[in-house]
Amino acid sequence: MMVYRFLVSILILLNISRPRPIHGRDEPAIISWREGSKKHALSLSEGSVQQGRSHFDARSVLSVRKHGKIARTPLAAFFNIPILILWLLTSCTTAPPRIVDLTYPFDEQTVYWPKNKHFHRQDTARGMTTNGYWYASGTFSASEHGGTHLDAPVHFSSSGMSLDEISVKSLLGPAIVLDIHEACQENADYELTVQDIHNWEQQYGLIERNDLVLLRTGWGAYWPDPQQYLGSTTPDNSLTLHFPGFSAEAMTFLVHERQIRGVGIDTASMDPGQSKDFQAHQILTKANRYGIENVAYLDQVPPRGATVYALPIKIKGGTGGPVRMIALIPQQPWTF
Ligand SMILES: [Zn+2]
Repeated sequence: MMVYRFLVSILILLNISRPRPIHGRDEPAIISWREGSKKHALSLSEGSVQQGRSHFDARSVLSVRKHGKIARTPLAAFFNIPILILWLLTSCTTAPPRIVDLTYPFDEQTVYWPKNKHFHRQDTARGMTTNGYWYASGTFSASEHGGTHLDAPVHFSSSGMSLDEISVKSLLGPAIVLDIHEACQENADYELTVQDIHNWEQQYGLIERNDLVLLRTGWGAYWPDPQQYLGSTTPDNSLTLHFPGFSAEAMTFLVHERQIRGVGIDTASMDPGQSKDFQAHQILTKANRYGIENVAYLDQVPPRGATVYALPIKIKGGTGGPVRMIALIPQQPWTF
């Protein structure tokens, strides 16, 4: 876009500085112009335009008055309609994208998988030092799998990459959102089907290789209440959980037929709460792809067009870890 804007700026400059003949349509007119420090004025009547033009360089024209009103000044040359339209187009296409933070804060309320260690942080210092400056520091600890976090392929695949081995390049790029929240309202154990994906593709076009596929179930509305979010009055018992997820068939289709780069979901697990064998996890990680869980605010991301950055903490050998995930959403659907 910078190139376009640069070219349009050059056009505007040329347009302003270009000598501009006084056209017949400006008559009758009084033209004022400058020669050195002197101002001159000449009244032009019908047929005297050519004579008038010989008197001055049009770049020095101060104003053209018609019927007592200023009809044109050098600055008015800026207001050339085609150039204005071009300028507006380039301005629109360079509008900064909207940024949505898809990350929940980490605190004592953060939801973790049953039996996993919750997030804990404490100050080790906070206050003025005896040397007269402020100093604050702390420690934190948590399981790798809780809050908005990324599952590395090694989580369910012995030969899969660990957190630090995932290339940064694969952690950013285009993302699409499959929205099944209405079906999930009817059935908390709903699983994304291959037909859901086909339906989405009919409306928005094929999911492309290396897209990040985000699944919106609407479960974000229950965060951070563990009973509602995990769908159980005993949220620390993994056998009792109820929330939606990816079916094995849908995950197979996405990974092998569409070659996506990863998935994300607004629940605690890619597999539905009632899963006992975590097939969606297995299928995804055996293909060395990653998954992101407890993704926030998916209702603010469009079905297509967002660019998502999901950068996890770089734990060497980590099976997963907290991720800072943001979506950049273009303000205009069209670009040059
Ligand atoms: Zn996980």
